[in-house]
Amino acid sequence: MTDVKASPLDSRIGEPETHKATIEHAEHVVPQYTQLPDHSAAEKSNPVADEDPRSAETKNEKDSKSNAATGGPEFQIPKTCKAGCVVNPGPNFTVQVEEVPVPEPGPDEVLLKLNATGICYSDLHYMLEDLAMPKMTEFGVRSAGHEGAGVVVKVGSGVKNWKVGDRGGVKPMWDCCMNCELCWDGFHETYCSKTVATGLMTTGTYQQYITSPARYTTRIPDGVDDFTAGPIMCSGSTIYRSIVESQLKAGDWAVFPGAGGGVGHMGVQIAKAMGFRVIGIDGGEEKKALCMKLGCESFVDFTKTEDVVAEVIKITGGLGAHGVFVTATSAAAYKTAPMMVRVGGRVMCIGLTPAGTATVGADPGWFIFKNLHVIGTMVGSMRDTDAALDFAARGLLKPIYELYPIARLPEAVDKLRNGKVAGRGVVDFNS
Ligand SMILES: [Zn+2]
Ligand SMILES: [Zn+2]
Repeated sequence: MTDVKASPLDSRIGEPETHKATIEHAEHVVPQYTQLPDHSAAEKSNPVADEDPRSAETKNEKDSKSNAATGGPEFQIPKTCKAGCVVNPGPNFTVQVEEVPVPEPGPDEVLLKLNATGICYSDLHYMLEDLAMPKMTEFGVRSAGHEGAGVVVKVGSGVKNWKVGDRGGVKPMWDCCMNCELCWDGFHETYCSKTVATGLMTTGTYQQYITSPARYTTRIPDGVDDFTAGPIMCSGSTIYRSIVESQLKAGDWAVFPGAGGGVGHMGVQIAKAMGFRVIGIDGGEEKKALCMKLGCESFVDFTKTEDVVAEVIKITGGLGAHGVFVTATSAAAYKTAPMMVRVGGRVMCIGLTPAGTATVGADPGWFIFKNLHVIGTMVGSMRDTDAALDFAARGLLKPIYELYPIARLPEAVDKLRNGKVAGRGVVDFNS
């Protein structure tokens, strides 16, 4: 592995691995306008909001006993564990919680006991099998999920940089080759043609005990509990990547259509922390209150404002915003975004729309006369995930979520399917 020393990820590089599968494009989908959070409900159900942020660590310690030899924790690993498994994948899929065997980590893998998993709209796409990409069934995968946070309970024989008791997270990409230009540049490894998509091509985080490549497992910092770390593995790091790639600077205007949504509300917080002037677009008084609390300078209520674009132009002094971050999955959001930016502005494409339903719509004149930049970003890299977690550790990023016990995972999935989740749905494996 000497030829990968240049990689900024070298501290996490283990031995080369045989990938279970490869994929050209990964998928990330964010909540739509209809899936925006109910602020009050979400906050009420947030059990850790006012607690010691290291409560998850405390829980881990409670579940373990001291290892006399090393002084570190020792975990009792069961033979089976709970997993949310897809039944009848396709348009009529359901999810049921089953007892499944606990896997054994390979030489370069760790075994994670997850305490939490977020539920992302991409999970539904995988189970619906409605994307132009390989299906879960082709890989024999029954558990979706890619926002996992927990603790290392066993390490493979070749793993040197992780120990039992370390806290770790699993992201939308389970692994990548670490041996190509995309994997070496620190920002694009999620685009590597050999990435393995979590919960699609290998067992996802709906299963409590899963293996994860030591080199691509994310360390969860002190001060970030597992219910916060879970959603950051996908939605938080995804919007962070888009914000960085937009190249907006402190003082610039940033617009978030769907600002109260699962990804949008994290974007508002990061943008505020980076010194942007944030405009939230969303519907209703509760969303307005949430957006203003999280850092929006202005709020445009699309249920009350006849011309949302005109309102954004007005707020930005008649010039338009420097950047619009489209986390919504609606065609309308993509259609109007180019109209909201100023000369040289950036339209950031984040939310995936169903194939063939939307375009970043504008007459070429809009692009020509406005020096318009349209940039797409997928999910966050390992480095982006660390950066997003750091915002959380510093108290600058707090996901709003609804918590479900593992037994109610199927209900949480249905709720997201019906567009009724407030913020992010997060499953607590220990309740
Ligand atoms: Zn996701
Ligand atoms: Zn690669």
